[in-house]
Amino acid sequence: MPRHLDLRSGQPVWASRGMPRIPSSPLDGDRSADVAIVGGGVSGALVADALLQAGLTVIAIDRREFGRGSSAASTALLATEIDRPLTRLADEVGWARAARAYWRSALAVAELRNRVRDLGLRANLQARPSIYLPGNLLGLEALRRECEARQRIGLRCRFIEGDELESLAALQGRGAILTAGSAEADPLRLVGGLWRSALARGAALHAPAEAREVRQTRRGVTITMADGIRIRAGHAVFATGYELLPFVPDDGSEIHSTWAIATAPQAAPPWPSRALVWEASEPYFYARTTPDGRVIAGGGDGPFADDDQRDAEIPKKSRAIARRIGAMWPALDPAPEYRWAGSFGQSRTGLPTIGRIPGLDRCHAVLGYGGNGFTFSAIAAQIISRAIIGLPDPDEALFAFRR
Ligand SMILES: Cc1cc2nc3c(=O)[nH]c(=O)nc-3n(C[C@H](O)[C@H](O)[C@H](O)COP(=O)(O)OP(=O)(O)OC[C@H]3O[C@@H](n4cnc5c(N)ncnc54)[C@H](O)[C@@H]3O)c2cc1C
Repeated sequence: MPRHLDLRSGQPVWASRGMPRIPSSPLDGDRSADVAIVGGGVSGALVADALLQAGLTVIAIDRREFGRGSSAASTALLATEIDRPLTRLADEVGWARAARAYWRSALAVAELRNRVRDLGLRANLQARPSIYLPGNLLGLEALRRECEARQRIGLRCRFIEGDELESLAALQGRGAILTAGSAEADPLRLVGGLWRSALARGAALHAPAEAREVRQTRRGVTITMADGIRIRAGHAVFATGYELLPFVPDDGSEIHSTWAIATAPQAAPPWPSRALVWEASEPYFYARTTPDGRVIAGGGDGPFADDDQRDAEIPKKSRAIARRIGAMWPALDPAPEYRWAGSFGQSRTGLPTIGRIPGLDRCHAVLGYGGNGFTFSAIAAQIISRAIIGLPDPDEALFAFRR
């Protein structure tokens, strides 16, 4: 049986006026296409976009409505930086691989921004710098070394001292890393816009339709739904987020719970640079602003036990996050207007798993782990679409399933 999770609860700020429906129709008979995509979140949407651009036909399904999984709960910091500091990642996977993962993330955010612009999507996508504060993972001196390491591999960052931190982020502190190239978005608009654009370019969107089984032959793949209907395709992409299907190998990642709040719009801009702010801590803490002057903040992650426990903790966790932003920015009104929770996967290294499923080489999976899942979904769309059209990608091995 596939893993079923209650992916999110509470009310994300994006859903303040309800969640606009992404048009789809029930799957009422067998279908075929060049590629079948299972999963209607940001990963599936970006893969669909890349495949349509390559001239392939696409059929996409979701067991819920499209765009109602983890993507709707995201706080949508589109970070060029990976959850794991470069220096720590290098200890785990080696310098060359760690550097490639960082370069690839920076490139993915830049290309995502360009693509959203080219498609004319109104997703409130704005380029933002990021400010990385010292925390329990990297103290001030370790953060300086982290900045030097990032500069050595050509990332667009510099260390800022306390006075500049105050002028950019209205924060008291002794220093931070300032990095260019990240972005923020409204995830509902982004995912909805991508799927509507795919639909307009000929993709078929079907929901509710739950994939249960897959069978591969030399020429293609057959996916069987819970009700026995079948989709035949040359390739299949499983972008099911944190609900793994039994034939997608578990790569040892753990499901974590996470909590987020959004304040009311503030009377004055919360901080001048509108940077994405986050901390080198585990569990991490982050904050961003919205175009209408709210502060979104989140963190406090912990291992997922069950949905009820995660949801019962929303009041306590949101009070703690509000206290935290109130202490960091005393001029803010930190009271939460929106509170929500969700679950996400945490891999051992912080890197995602992307690529062909071992033993099923016409089936590809996206396990976009970590707090910067959107960036990883953008990388996945490139790697998977290239694999399907027969082009090599220089980072295929970096993110592949370990055999
Ligand atoms: C509170 C919170 C804050 C976050 N903040 C950030 C952030 O700031 N930046 C960032 O980059 N990431 C963030 N993330 C992570 C990010 O949201 C995820 O990485 C991303 O949404 C995953 O997208 P997805 O498309 O892979 O999964 P989903 O959006 O969950 O989509 C998967 C879809 O697959 C469908 N599905 C599952 N199984 C089947 C099946 N058998 N058949 C058919 N359909 C199926 C589901 O119904 C679902 O709609 C956050 C996550 C949470 C919970």
